[in-house]
Amino acid sequence: MPKIYFDHNATAPFTPTVKASLQEAEEACFGNPSSVHWAGREAKRFLNASREKIAALLGAEEREILFTSGGTESINTALVGLWESRTQASKIEIITSPIEHHATLKTLEYLAERGTQVTYLSVDRKGRIDPEELKERIGPLTLLVSLLYAHNELGNLSPVEEVGRLCRENGVLFHCDGVQAVGKARIDLKALPIDLFSFSAHKFHGPKGVGGLYVREGVSLAPLHRGGMQERSLRGGTENVPAIHAASVALEEAMRDFEADQRKIAFLRERLEKGLLSRNDNLLLNGDLENRLANTTNVLVRGVDGESLLINLDLEGVAASAGAACESGSIDPSHVLLAMGFSPEEAKASIRFSLSKLNTEGEVDEVVESFTKVVKRLRKI
Ligand code: PLP
Repeated sequence: MPKIYFDHNATAPFTPTVKASLQEAEEACFGNPSSVHWAGREAKRFLNASREKIAALLGAEEREILFTSGGTESINTALVGLWESRTQASKIEIITSPIEHHATLKTLEYLAERGTQVTYLSVDRKGRIDPEELKERIGPLTLLVSLLYAHNELGNLSPVEEVGRLCRENGVLFHCDGVQAVGKARIDLKALPIDLFSFSAHKFHGPKGVGGLYVREGVSLAPLHRGGMQERSLRGGTENVPAIHAASVALEEAMRDFEADQRKIAFLRERLEKGLLSRNDNLLLNGDLENRLANTTNVLVRGVDGESLLINLDLEGVAASAGAACESGSIDPSHVLLAMGFSPEEAKASIRFSLSKLNTEGEVDEVVESFTKVVKRLRKI
């Protein structure tokens, strides 16, 4: 049975180059980058070079990049760190949307218990916020706006420039969850009105458990935990240098052939969507189809239980997902689709395919075949 992986928004496997770079760094720099001897200096050299590379690829300064254990930690550091370091006691509001990743929503629930006023923007049936509503909501109490750059379940791209501009005009900071955007969109943080930006290496073919937070010069944060003075005392703990090195190689690779890779991925997704829609009735593509990542498609399959569909696809060797990775396997309908006005039945009948440059046309055709077979069978039951 072929094994076909269409779940790259959950995590993306290493490319051969990234895998080799991890092995290389593991051998070359076992030292602790805080040690002053030769082994430490060698590790520090790798760490500095990785920071330099990632900063350049994101349009940031080296001192603006903080390495963390991934997206969840970066988001926690941005939100809790900012809340704890705020100097104006009157600034108590954080504005977000109800379709953010749980890393944001749960952190904001935690902050709400500690006095933060969390305001949720409305979203339409396509998962779009209305910048006009944001404009009305921003007020003298607003400390921060936190929104996704690219949506993990839908692929939607947010109007980050407009949001950032509104924030700037009103003296409000803007955190962007860029976890699904890095490696899939061109990011230039010098040009974007973003103050804090979270990213995670395993979403762009890098290692799991490593990511980063961009902190614009002048934005002050409190560290999440106490300890060493690593990462400008904002993130104590010995850096995972080999993984950070591999993350920098992964990002470099993603941006090197970016246009060609994205064209290939968009072609594959179009072939997938066309194939699914032409071979099956009662399908609907969810999200903002005009404004989304090239790799993601979210499909509502009417009359079918999404979980049964995923299990049956898995039996055919096809890995897809019902939404956020941490939620697949649970029977709860996606909080994202519910917030967009979907009924629980519609939300449960929706699944996500997310592709990468590692996929092929042949795989797309096999997925269309398996999907059509399984849907026919499930609809009969
Ligand atoms: N934010 C988004 C949009 C994500 O898709 C994810 C992972 O699924 C995260 C945050 C959390 O990232 P990590 O798995 O690196 O903690």
